[in-house]
Amino acid sequence: MSAKIHHIFETTFHDLRPRTPFPETKIEFFAFANLNNTIRMRSGKLLVRLSDLLEGAPESVLSSIAHILLAKMYRRPIASEHATRYRRYIASRAISRKAHLLRQIRGRKRLDHPQGRTYDLDAIFRDLNSRFFHGMLARPLMSWSPSAARNSLGHYDPAHNAIVISRVFDHPRVPQYAIEYIVYHEMLHLKHPVKLRGSRRCVHSTAFLEDERQFPRLEDAKKFLKEL
Ligand SMILES: [Zn+2]
Repeated sequence: MSAKIHHIFETTFHDLRPRTPFPETKIEFFAFANLNNTIRMRSGKLLVRLSDLLEGAPESVLSSIAHILLAKMYRRPIASEHATRYRRYIASRAISRKAHLLRQIRGRKRLDHPQGRTYDLDAIFRDLNSRFFHGMLARPLMSWSPSAARNSLGHYDPAHNAIVISRVFDHPRVPQYAIEYIVYHEMLHLKHPVKLRGSRRCVHSTAFLEDERQFPRLEDAKKFLKEL
């Protein structure tokens, strides 16, 4: 792989600068969050850093990125075919990686889908978000718990950015205000983060409890959950 990409850069370099010998070159892959690829010349050595999204890319795509980076460095125009090929490849890779990550997260945490038999957690989140948070909370992964465990009503997991609600409550017997209260409570944990790593402790500050009192049917909801 690295010999192949090295050769691709060398060929591209010769196309752009036919009379210049190909300098010593170091090519590395990095996990850039923002998909940056960089190229620099440092004391006669060429340093190339590529997004790891390009690892395993077909030769034509690697030729395109080599062309783009070298043309930029030597202030030459970038051929549109290369720009297009690179952009298309990266877009498709970024999408499939995101899907893959989501599958991994759901797999590891055994998360389920937000749409239950009775209630849709995404819809409840959206509704509460606009009613109580000015639509300002970014929606985390919403999931029913895999089993109908009753030891926890729900929890917010900051590591996976997920709100998990016990499947017990996905039932027509459970009134709308009760499930809304449970989700609302977890959304307050999003709004009032607790800086405790690896702990499942449920910490409710004064500000948290004050916000919780804004929930219209708080007492009814608490009563229902107690009698459940
Ligand atoms: Zn809590």
